[in-house]
Amino acid sequence: MESALETARAQLRRAVELLELTENDWQTLSTPRRILEVAVPLRRDNGNVEMYKGFRVQYSTTRGPSKGGVRFHPTIDMDETVALAMLMTWKCALTNLPYGGAKGGIAVDAHTLSLAENERLTRRYTSEILPIIGPERDIPAPDVGTDERNMAWMMDTYSVNAGFAVPGVVTGKPIVLGGSLGRTSATGDGVAISAIEALLVKGIDPKGATVAIQGFGKVGYWAAIALENLGLKIVAVSDVNGGVTGFKNVNELWNHFLANNNLNLPGTDKLTQEELIHLDVDVLIPAALADAITEKNASGIRAKVIVEGANAPTTPGGDAILNANHILVVPDILANSGGVIVSYFEWVQDKQNYFWTADEVKSNLNEIMMRSFREVEEMARTKKVSWREAAHMIGVARVAEAHRLRGLYP
Ligand code: GLU
Repeated sequence: MESALETARAQLRRAVELLELTENDWQTLSTPRRILEVAVPLRRDNGNVEMYKGFRVQYSTTRGPSKGGVRFHPTIDMDETVALAMLMTWKCALTNLPYGGAKGGIAVDAHTLSLAENERLTRRYTSEILPIIGPERDIPAPDVGTDERNMAWMMDTYSVNAGFAVPGVVTGKPIVLGGSLGRTSATGDGVAISAIEALLVKGIDPKGATVAIQGFGKVGYWAAIALENLGLKIVAVSDVNGGVTGFKNVNELWNHFLANNNLNLPGTDKLTQEELIHLDVDVLIPAALADAITEKNASGIRAKVIVEGANAPTTPGGDAILNANHILVVPDILANSGGVIVSYFEWVQDKQNYFWTADEVKSNLNEIMMRSFREVEEMARTKKVSWREAAHMIGVARVAEAHRLRGLYP
């Protein structure tokens, strides 16, 4: 199987070819601008000291400060961080946010950390990457394994070093620290907008349409809630331990999940990840990690529409099968862009010290997502390419043009 970086580079190569850009453009676009690897020592609660690897990749700063999440996951490495930072670059350009792209992370299983250990690790990581982040430089945010608590500690560590509060250094913060209303649910809300629009393109009535969601975390849960509120039926969800079907509504399952840390709600039926992916539903939402849909399982997929809540959930082999089977795939850089769009709103609000209502956030999110959606749909139709290719073409073209206009120093 190709690595995440190989996949991301192949997608860029394809976009460069479709756009008929030059070899010089390819060199410029395929090179990450700044890569930092740091050692992050952690004193465990029992006094032992352990060393972790931390990363921050600023893939592009051409269109503005770099922007992207911080992932705590045991398998993260530099190559994957580069791949995810590259995706952030095209995502921000596609949605026309004034940002480059970045990603960071620590190779650690956040579940093995106590709250105090998590705080110490987050603060030390922040202090190690401090020279290269900042509201005008690079703005981290939550990703897999991190949340608003981590952002509060990052904001505090940066602010203590600056000598004054700097809320704009991270997004996805708690509201009282300068976070934005609607940021917590933003990625899921954007996934829901994408699902509705994709169904309409396919001529399927969203009311009563069926949905299966792989992943019941920050993205999957909020997508489920938003879609249920819009009248769709969530028939199955899964977490790392497997899936479940037969629940009455999402909140009933969520309440059980919060209380018991499992999805085994009495009266429901279990199903495997594979069974969930192959359910006969209208919409399938991979909202967990990379490589969920591969050449091994793609041919059994019966969903009409796939909405990629996760980053890079489909391998190129899987993608080819989905395209051949005429399954409409709303690609990650469009489908999950709601998160970074509302991060942008948060950063703007922090810069202006003027905060928006929840309705303003929602309607501005909707406007940007719909605009990106229309652009991708039109590009796919006129150039006869997949939505993934179209989305990459739009993002890559914007970065290439910005490069051209800025010129080369010296
Ligand atoms: N981690 C999210 C993503 O992959 C959000 C990034 C952000 O808000 O900067 O898009």
